Amino acid sequence: MTTAAALVVATYSRRMQLLLPDGHRVDARIKGKRIKPVCGDRVEAEPIPGEADWLITTLCDRRNELTRPNLRGKVEVLAANIDRLLVMAAPAPDPDWSVVDRYLCAAELIDASAAVIFNKADLPASESVDEVLEDYKNIGYQAVRCSAKSGLNIDAVAGLLRDGVSIIVGQSGVGKSSLINRLLQDDRQRVAAISDKSGEGRHTTVNSAMLQLPGGGAVIDSPGVRDYAPALRPEEVVVGYREIAAAGRACRFANCRHLREPGCAVKAAVENKTISKRRYDSYRSRAARSSACHPSGAGGCERRSGQPLRCSS
Ligand code: GDP
Ligand code: ZN
Repeated sequence: MTTAAALVVATYSRRMQLLLPDGHRVDARIKGKRIKPVCGDRVEAEPIPGEADWLITTLCDRRNELTRPNLRGKVEVLAANIDRLLVMAAPAPDPDWSVVDRYLCAAELIDASAAVIFNKADLPASESVDEVLEDYKNIGYQAVRCSAKSGLNIDAVAGLLRDGVSIIVGQSGVGKSSLINRLLQDDRQRVAAISDKSGEGRHTTVNSAMLQLPGGGAVIDSPGVRDYAPALRPEEVVVGYREIAAAGRACRFANCRHLREPGCAVKAAVENKTISKRRYDSYRSRAARSSACHPSGAGGCERRSGQPLRCSS
């Protein structure tokens, strides 16, 4: 029997849609209860004789995973093998840059690249936005203003997404769904993913879908991904603010938290303005919040040696 290395492109509870190496899409079920593939997973699958369905037999190692605790307190994986987080803000709702920083931090921790998108460029925005976006560019993040409504700079956004698999994150109401619809140019894939092909009701609830973009690249969309809000432990905040982590290598103490320690290179960099004061304040309040959230280190992100980092909300 032939086995194929396939990509999970949609999930419906225990059923999935696979993209095969030859470009065909097939429906599949999972062998046994032990493996739990999610959108973005690479799997091995084989046809089932006499059936249209394929059978997923093996889950391949993940490069990273997006996780959150579920209602029973167990870790639920939302998506796997993410290359990029596109972090979105807008003039309305009022931009909360500390939320943007939190997502950028999460991207660093799962070793995904990240960019900042300021949507609703058709609406007036406060002057400070320019400065904030400039600060992001200075620390190596691409930052683009766009409008999902008017189409302004949508080509630039499509360019950011051209390679690999991305997710779009940000506060509710900033325009994530609108941007995805604009990038897809029409709703065909979304409708196709949600429609019930079998007519037996087994496909009616799509949990997540990987949408191929016309300009290249793909976006994983699901209610869980849209609500994704990573919790971060203090030690993760220290490594997730990239310019602070870089400057911190010159601190007197290797375990400097850049708060009140003497010989702190980060505080010196804030004073001489090589590190943005806003980012440093965001770092400090995130570090304080994360220790309040996780006094015993429970929950949040975990890096196990040799294993992908888990990052939960
Ligand atoms: P999400 O919660 O992040 O997915 O946001 P939605 O895509 O649902 O958009 C929230 C609201 O913002 C909707 O009323 C959209 O029509 C509106 N919206 C989205 N993009 C733009 C934009 O570029 N300009 C303006 N003016 N409104 C937008
Ligand atoms: Zn320091």
